[in-house]
Amino acid sequence: MPPQTLVDKIWARHAVTVLDGNETLLYVDRCLLHEGFWWNIVDSLKSRNLAIHRPSNIIACSDHFVPTTDRSGGFGAIADERRRDLILRLETEGAELGVNVIGMMDERQGILHVVAPETGITQPGMVIAGSDSHTSTHGALGAIAFGIGTTEAMHVLATETLWQLQPKTMRITVAGRLPAHATAKDLILTIIARLGIDGGAGRFVEYAGPAIEALTIEERLTVCNMSIELGARAGTIAPDETTFAYLAGRPHAPSGAHWDAAVDFWKTLRTDDGATFDREVSIDGASVAPMSTWGTSLDQTIPLDAPIPDPAAEPDSSKREAQARSLAYMGLHPGQRLRDVPIDYVFIGSCTNGRLDDLREAAAVVRGRHAAVPAFVSPGSRAVKRAAEAEGLDRIFVDAGFEWRDSGCSMCAGANGDTLEPGRRCAATSNRNFPGRQGPGSRTHIMSPASAAASAIAGRIAGAAQVPA
Ligand code: SF4
Repeated sequence: MPPQTLVDKIWARHAVTVLDGNETLLYVDRCLLHEGFWWNIVDSLKSRNLAIHRPSNIIACSDHFVPTTDRSGGFGAIADERRRDLILRLETEGAELGVNVIGMMDERQGILHVVAPETGITQPGMVIAGSDSHTSTHGALGAIAFGIGTTEAMHVLATETLWQLQPKTMRITVAGRLPAHATAKDLILTIIARLGIDGGAGRFVEYAGPAIEALTIEERLTVCNMSIELGARAGTIAPDETTFAYLAGRPHAPSGAHWDAAVDFWKTLRTDDGATFDREVSIDGASVAPMSTWGTSLDQTIPLDAPIPDPAAEPDSSKREAQARSLAYMGLHPGQRLRDVPIDYVFIGSCTNGRLDDLREAAAVVRGRHAAVPAFVSPGSRAVKRAAEAEGLDRIFVDAGFEWRDSGCSMCAGANGDTLEPGRRCAATSNRNFPGRQGPGSRTHIMSPASAAASAIAGRIAGAAQVPA
């Protein structure tokens, strides 16, 4: 057998049949759904008189529309009827259909892409499909994971399979180590800034190299999460001892003899020497610095110390026009140093950076200081929230003037009503910065938890190194 990539190996194990040497009927191990698309997918299923083939493989989670302020009143306290109905429909109908519902009042509740890894639902070697583009997150554990549309999700629910074209592959090797002041978020922002938002266009990306191997699983989840912003279909990292240690003992992970067999198999999930990719890119980990977006596209990202670019210096006319539009929307001007830009608000959370390590990273900056602007933390799951409270992180944030909220997607997309007022500028740890992402007219700067925390203290965009005493 010729040398295979990690993606090739997982793909081949899941291929039920292949048409014309390319189109593959792929077995899907897990399907992840949230309340925003549940109704549409299930209506499509019912309209064709189809049933869910194996409900135990479907995980349905309330995350996008749930309130993050006060849930003590339960569903009845959600004032917005549409949001309440979407959540209730997923939770009541999901239970009737026998799928794994993780509802708003469930102790396991959180963002799908936080909950599935932390409960061990996500495992190496799986094919995971989800009704959300950031399903790519789960590749951090050595799975193939990607977002799908409504029709595809219906097909998965009815058959546990999906027709897919054989993917093009790409490897991004990160050599060396990240500097002490740079984070996994800075790394993926650097990758997107250098390669562009189409740098991974349609490919399944494998992240490799010493700097990737040195990352914790939570950091790997951040990197794979934003593969979508690179234009990739999925991002994955070969499972290793770090992966096995993370999964051991989690509720849905194998146990006993099943664990030993699983680890033996997972150890085979590595790209063979000599395997070829459709594209290979190398990055020096030591060159990564704290980064933030300045514009309305993820490739409009620069180091915090750098000046905002001048569109006049951009030779590509479409990029030049895009930069000019971004400057106008964001209320910035060329040459302005990014870390001098005043902000109005800080959001720490999301499926990119709402995990325990992220909150530790932010709390380390915030400890003993006070926020100069309104700021809040929404842990990525209730389990993250409990663990953070057990360490006293909530007190650090509250003492610094931050709000300490409940878990959900929150101000990442604002679907639950956590939005910014028009024209307000937010330092955010989420993953998208297009116009209106955090509410109509909102201005978003995407950065790491450490930089968002430093920005809250400084009242302007800042890195942890610049935070005032
Ligand atoms: S946190 Fe944001 S990116 Fe992640 S699933 Fe929720 S809305 Fe999507």
